[in-house]
Amino acid sequence: MNIRSITAPNPGPFTLDGTRTYLLGDSIILDPGPAIESHIDAILAEMPRVRSIFITHRHGDHAPAALPLKERSGAQIIAPPGVLDATDRIVSDGEVIEGLEVIATPGHTAEHVCYLTSAGDLFTGDTILGSGTTTIFPPDGNMRDYIASLRRLRAREPKRIWPAHGPTRDDALALIDEYIAHRLQREQQVIAAMAGGARTPADIRRVIYPDLDPRLERAAEIQITAHLEKLREEESSK
Ligand SMILES: [Zn+2]
Repeated sequence: MNIRSITAPNPGPFTLDGTRTYLLGDSIILDPGPAIESHIDAILAEMPRVRSIFITHRHGDHAPAALPLKERSGAQIIAPPGVLDATDRIVSDGEVIEGLEVIATPGHTAEHVCYLTSAGDLFTGDTILGSGTTTIFPPDGNMRDYIASLRRLRAREPKRIWPAHGPTRDDALALIDEYIAHRLQREQQVIAAMAGGARTPADIRRVIYPDLDPRLERAAEIQITAHLEKLREEESSK
């Protein structure tokens, strides 16, 4: 399958250089991106015969452009539940649609799915980024589900990762291993900080990230909260 991408003009701390909208073959768009007119024009110019618009999850930098694209092209919207009312086909785990297998990957958001081709090309949305880490913001985000989703993706032995943000990665398995190791290491740091007397997410954040950019403190504390919830969930399911 021929894979190209167009990066939306929405760079930022969470979107990196912007959302990558993928164009597959001559009829599939994956993660259409934000509803920015120049982005929609660029997609339609590249993909005049678009038939299907696949979406990984409902966030505003991934899904909204599906609506004007559908209006202007008549393409169908294919997405997990709860993404857009205008969705034509709700996906479920394990089904294959137009050569893309749906893999449920809750964690970044509850409804998040990834799409895998038979050639090992894995479209990861915000579950795995091309650089850095993704955000897990409870209650919609869930760290325990997230790590389980990474392991599910690992088990499928993908060859390449095409993330919604950041560069394509040919070292798919190594990247997934790194992602899992990073979260488990962070969890150990949280446990160690608590053993040292830290109680609140802010206390723990000061131990783990002593020199953090103040603009990122809140996000770090939410990630720590996600780890604390995972530990609590595991404790109560023992
Ligand atoms: Zn997202």
